[in-house]
Amino acid sequence: MAQTGISRSTDISANLARLRTRIATAAQAAGRDAAAITLIAVSKFHPAEQMLPALALGQLDFGENRVQEAQGKWPPLCAQWPDCRLHLIGPLQTNKVRQALALFDAIHTLDREKLARLLADEIQAAGKMPDLFIQINIGQEPQKAGLPPGDADAFIARCRGEFGLNIQGLMCIPPAGQDAAPHFARLAEIAARNGLAQLSMGMSDDFELAIRHGATHVRVGSALFGARG
Ligand SMILES: *Cc1c(COP(=O)(O)O)cnc(C)c1O
Repeated sequence: MAQTGISRSTDISANLARLRTRIATAAQAAGRDAAAITLIAVSKFHPAEQMLPALALGQLDFGENRVQEAQGKWPPLCAQWPDCRLHLIGPLQTNKVRQALALFDAIHTLDREKLARLLADEIQAAGKMPDLFIQINIGQEPQKAGLPPGDADAFIARCRGEFGLNIQGLMCIPPAGQDAAPHFARLAEIAARNGLAQLSMGMSDDFELAIRHGATHVRVGSALFGARG
């Protein structure tokens, strides 16, 4: 989208303040503690210097969807802000697992056995356990990543048992152009019956709805950094 000169797209400090207020309001309306909701600032396609106003305001959780892009952007920022936490929210290829583990504190896109097996091996070698979310293809869309909802219970059990992975929660991206509410509700249901406390769901257009359905991690990009070029 073209730059319009409207401040929404570029005033990251103001956008962040607004987002925090909206998250707090949504949490309160849902009878939830806003402190239990992590805002992940999705910084993909935005250059490192755009992170500075957010970091300066204490935003420490950031999401990237490509390992390579994150590697080029984050090491200097992480050196300056050692408390910052990086979340991988895009697909993880098996040949990038080692690099991903070196850089990311959380991986939201565990969605297949081969990846679980490799992650287990590499985590052991690295001696560092990231937070892990299993991505569920909640709308069962053929083109979308994620595990079919019907396979979730068995996969979670195998990840915990056979692979010894510390699964924190579930992640989903509901189908575009549909009411996300039933999808968020279904993800929450799968998590609850498997004793998983964390839900990574909700983006710029639907994070308040996601909070109503129990989201603990909302992944917000364009509402914070503006449209991606
Ligand atoms: C890009 C992306 C987001 C952020 O989307 P916005 O609509 O810009 O907030 C969230 N989650 C995932 C997995 C993404 O790829």
